[in-house]
Amino acid sequence: MRAVLDHVGIAVQDIEAALAFYRDSLGLEVEAPEDVLTQRVRARHIPVGGPKLELLEATAPDSAIAKYINTRGPGLHHITLRVEDIRAVLAHLKARGIRLVDEEPRPGAENAQVAFIHPSAAHGVLVELKQPSAPGPVLEIKRLAFGDLQLTTLHDGGFRLDGGAMFSVVPRPLWEKLAPADDRHRIQLAMRPLLVEADWGRLLVDCGAGDKMAPKQADIYALTRERHLDHALSDAGLTSASIDIALATHLHFDHFGGATVLQQNALVPRFPNARYVIRSAEWEDATHPHERNRASYLQDDFVPLKDAGVVDFFEGDQTITPGVRVVRTGGHTGQHQIVYVESGGKTAVYVADMIPTTAHLQDPWVMSYDLFPMETLAFKRRFIREAIDREYLILFEHDPRVSAGYIRENAKGQRFVEQVL
Ligand SMILES: [Zn+2]
Repeated sequence: MRAVLDHVGIAVQDIEAALAFYRDSLGLEVEAPEDVLTQRVRARHIPVGGPKLELLEATAPDSAIAKYINTRGPGLHHITLRVEDIRAVLAHLKARGIRLVDEEPRPGAENAQVAFIHPSAAHGVLVELKQPSAPGPVLEIKRLAFGDLQLTTLHDGGFRLDGGAMFSVVPRPLWEKLAPADDRHRIQLAMRPLLVEADWGRLLVDCGAGDKMAPKQADIYALTRERHLDHALSDAGLTSASIDIALATHLHFDHFGGATVLQQNALVPRFPNARYVIRSAEWEDATHPHERNRASYLQDDFVPLKDAGVVDFFEGDQTITPGVRVVRTGGHTGQHQIVYVESGGKTAVYVADMIPTTAHLQDPWVMSYDLFPMETLAFKRRFIREAIDREYLILFEHDPRVSAGYIRENAKGQRFVEQVL
C-alpha cells in the first residue's frame, strides 16, 4: 500500500485560543474556517509543507472531539494517511485481523471517503484513512454587468442527489457520462443563489439550504458547506444584512432552507433587513405537504418568516422589481416559478429546477422529483426553443460547475451550453 501523510488532527478546546499560538506566535498561515456538519466539528487548516495541521473544535457535546477532550484533554487526536483505494486497504487490514473503527468508508470533509483504524492496532494513535473524492462543485462567486443591473452568482455549498431520480426515465449509461455517480449512486450538485443589484437595492433569488439540517440528513444528501453563502456574500463584499429582498422560486429546502437561521434557540429570518417575497399558492402547498413532498418542504425553513411578519405574498406572474419578473412553470412543484431578469434589451433567466443542470438540456431529461413531469416537459420544450432563438442567458442553480451560459444547437440539432460564468 502507498500512503501519504495528509494531515495531523489536533483536538482543541477553543480554536481562537489555539490560533493565538499557531497563527500569532508561530506565525503560520491559516486557511478559512470549515464546518463539518456530519461530525459536528469546526476545523482550521494550517499548511506545513505538503501535509497540514488540522485544529478541531467541537460544535456539539456529542461530537467525537468533545468526548475525546472530556476523557483525555486537548492534544494530538489523529493522523490521516491518504490512500488511492480505501476499500482495498480496509479489506487488506481486515484480512490481517486489524481492529477497525469503520469497516466501511464514510463521507468526510471535502467529499472524501474516510475510515478510522482503532488506536489499539496502531500502537496508541488513531489513524484515519482518506480517499479524496472526484472533484467537488466549483464554489466561486461570478459577476456580470447586465444592462443597468449587476448579476452575481453566489453559492451555498454542494450536495448530492440520487442520479436515477435526477434523470428519471433516462437510462444510467446515458446520464452517467454527463454526471458521474458516487458509490452511493449520487451525483454532485451545487446551490447557486442569484444576486441582482440595481439602484432599487439588492434582491437575492433563493438562498440555498442553510445550516439547520440534522447530521443524518446532511449525510444522506452529502451536504457540504465548508464554503457557503456567508463566504460567497463576503467575497462579494456583502453580508446577510445587505439583502433587501429574498425571492423564492419555490420553498424546497435546497432553495429556501437558508431563509431562516437558529439563533439562541429561536428560528429567525436569516436576512435581518429583507422582505421575503413568496407566491401565495406555493406557500399554501408548502404548508400543506403530502407524503410525496413532505421531505422537501421543511416547515422550519419558512413558517418562522411569516411569524416574524417579513413575508410579502403575491398572486400570479408578477414584476418583483424593475427588470425582475417571475413566471410560473409548474411541473417540479405546482407553483414552481423561474425568474426573468431583463435590462438593456437582454434577457437572463434563472431556471431553478426546470433545468437544474447543464446535463438536463434535452426535453425529456426531467427529474423524477417533479410532481407533474408532463407539465415540466411542455414548458421546457417551449422555453428552450425560445431561449436558443432569442439568446437568453441561462442561470443554472444546481450545476456543479457552470453558473451561466447560452444554450446552443450544433448542425445536427444537438444542444450544448456555451459557458459564460
Ligand atoms: Zn432544487
